[in-house]
Amino acid sequence: GLVLGIESSCDETAAALVTTDRCILAQRIASQDAEHAPYGGVVPEIAARAHAERLAPIIEGVLADAGKTLADCDAIAATAGPGLIGGVMVGLVSAKALAMASDTPLIAINHLEGHALSPRLVDPELGFPYLLLLVSGGHCQILRVEGVGRYRRLATTIDDALGEAFDKTAKILGLGFPGGPAVERLALQGDPQAVPLPRPLVGSGEPHFSFAGLKSAVLRAQQSGEHQPADIAASFQQAALDCVLDRLRIACAAGEALPALVVAGGVAANRSIRTALERFADARAMRFVAPPPALCTDNAAMIAWAGCERLGQSDPLDIAARPRWPLDPTAEPARGAGV
Ligand code: ATP
Ligand code: MG
Ligand code: FE
Repeated sequence: GLVLGIESSCDETAAALVTTDRCILAQRIASQDAEHAPYGGVVPEIAARAHAERLAPIIEGVLADAGKTLADCDAIAATAGPGLIGGVMVGLVSAKALAMASDTPLIAINHLEGHALSPRLVDPELGFPYLLLLVSGGHCQILRVEGVGRYRRLATTIDDALGEAFDKTAKILGLGFPGGPAVERLALQGDPQAVPLPRPLVGSGEPHFSFAGLKSAVLRAQQSGEHQPADIAASFQQAALDCVLDRLRIACAAGEALPALVVAGGVAANRSIRTALERFADARAMRFVAPPPALCTDNAAMIAWAGCERLGQSDPLDIAARPRWPLDPTAEPARGAGV
């Protein structure tokens, strides 16, 4: 089977062609970093307009790259949420038009499911269930992935997502946008023990994440003028990592042992985090799977792959874009906050 995937939920405009036997035939991504950089973050109106201008040539481009036409596709999979609604609508409407014109089934994909299943695109041995750490710009969750469409949320953040904490730290340190990769680079030159920073909720027995206090401490450390930016970056990354490992310990202790630990989402591109998670998994005799960095940050191959996982299903052409769409709709809000 062959699936065309379309992604437009944040600030990457992307399309990809992926086969059910895990071959990425073609993929193109246009990043909008240059457009948003002057504002220090993603501006929804600018994002929607940029998606509208770029998506059609990108879709034509991947079809041409692979030497395929829509008639060769068994489904068109598009992100239908969650995300910035203007951008999601651009991608979903394009997918609907192509699906109608070519009489091809439309599959509406939850962007988070794209992240959650992406490790299975690169690892044919990864079966269900697995323990998933989903760490991105808008989400910070631990989930038990029981099957396609079957997610049990074990933890979420009560304030900021981990990627958001990286982005805010980058802003405080004047590293520009997007922040995660810049913090990672600067941290390589710093001492992770140099700046005393809090590890929110560590030792509390609470399953959820919190990063707002860490961010405020980073701001105070920067304003004190007593620390090198590289030391702040390294100490922030270490504190964040300590929080993540502690929450994972709680998640592992709470349920029955799972055979694999999987990390996905933009922050999963971070080398130190990947290395530490691999060590964590090794110590528990769990397999560790992390997609290559380019498949951790937003891309359309993961959306096409989620379409491959759902091949045979189809959604009505009047399906709506969703700004919010939790993977586990039964999960209670964590202290009234995160989804
Ligand atoms: P969501 O998936 O929750 O809707 P999103 O799609 O905006 O949010 P992603 O593209 O999955 O998020 O991830 C982007 C986030 O990942 C940003 O916050 C970015 O700073 C962070 N990130 C990217 N690369 C790295 C890195 N090397 N180290 C740390 N963080 C990173
Ligand atoms: Mg981006
Ligand atoms: Fe994402």
